[in-house]
Amino acid sequence: MPILTLECPQCSHVFQGLVLEGTRMPEVWVCSNCGSREAHLLPDEEPVTHPWEEEGHGPGLCPCCN
Ligand SMILES: [Zn+2]
Repeated sequence: MPILTLECPQCSHVFQGLVLEGTRMPEVWVCSNCGSREAHLLPDEEPVTHPWEEEGHGPGLCPCCN
């Protein structure tokens, strides 16, 4: 499951967005810092492995699968 890195042009906040398996990529990313809806993907960032994957990733085990 990829985690995407996003950057907010309003406040320069860099944060990560999770695309849930089986769901479409959101068309709008909301900045978790200032609430701007103009956050965009950082083009140079490769999707990284889910950080919880090695520690029991799944329903009931991590926030993303509940
Ligand atoms: Zn922002």
